[in-house]
Amino acid sequence: KVVTVNHISNALGIINPIKYIIDKAHAVGSAVLIDGAQAVPHLKPDVQELDCDFYAFSGHKMCGPTGTGILYGKEEWLNKLPPYQGGGEMIKEVTFEKTTYADLPHKFEAGTPNIAGGIVLGTAIDYLNNIGFENIQEYEHELLEYATKRLSEIEGLRIYGTGKNKASVVSFNIDGIHPYDIGSIIDKLGIAVRTGHHCAQPIMNFFCIPGTIRASFSFYNTKEEIDLMVDAVKKAQTMLS
Ligand SMILES: *Cc1c(COP(=O)(O)O)cnc(C)c1O
Repeated sequence: KVVTVNHISNALGIINPIKYIIDKAHAVGSAVLIDGAQAVPHLKPDVQELDCDFYAFSGHKMCGPTGTGILYGKEEWLNKLPPYQGGGEMIKEVTFEKTTYADLPHKFEAGTPNIAGGIVLGTAIDYLNNIGFENIQEYEHELLEYATKRLSEIEGLRIYGTGKNKASVVSFNIDGIHPYDIGSIIDKLGIAVRTGHHCAQPIMNFFCIPGTIRASFSFYNTKEEIDLMVDAVKKAQTMLS
């Protein structure tokens, strides 16, 4: 009934062909929910062109505050769906016989909302739009290519997710060393990466690995920082082997 898929894989950085998936799902009468949490820091989705039924993302992945996020939904779906929460401002009329709900979007916004968070998320979106997503994508692509090239110099290093269409994320392992061990040592050297299965065990099982070391780059990162990371990974490799 519902197909749900990442716009960009949080485990590998691959940009999924969601337009293709959405069209295929619609052809068999399925609704589509896109998880855009990893996409919105890197690109600007056009929900109307994509024709997805729902598109969701978190504010804190795009320079916004924690506890905020956005769910886009087609109006026809949002009108059909019942409220998931009760509270102030979402009621139209209450009698002993029946309750009717307020019009969209109030039907889904029970109680006093996170007003400050919403305003700050708006500021974060303006901030990213001012930098420009074309600029962000171009620069991040440069960082991706540079990091991929530099990391590939390390003997025994394998990168997972080698498709062409990628966000600036490099997920990798080093032969014979647990990802957590590399992650812990380079953390002490001031390099912040994520290690583990990234809540995506099926893809880890597919590669027969316990997890990966995932370095993700943003528009505020530099090539010098990538060099520092590569040096730190090399150092950790020497210590652990
Ligand atoms: C971070 C993330 C989530 C969870 O979002 P939170 O707002 O942190 O709970 C969901 N999906 C993907 C792909 C993510 O990267």
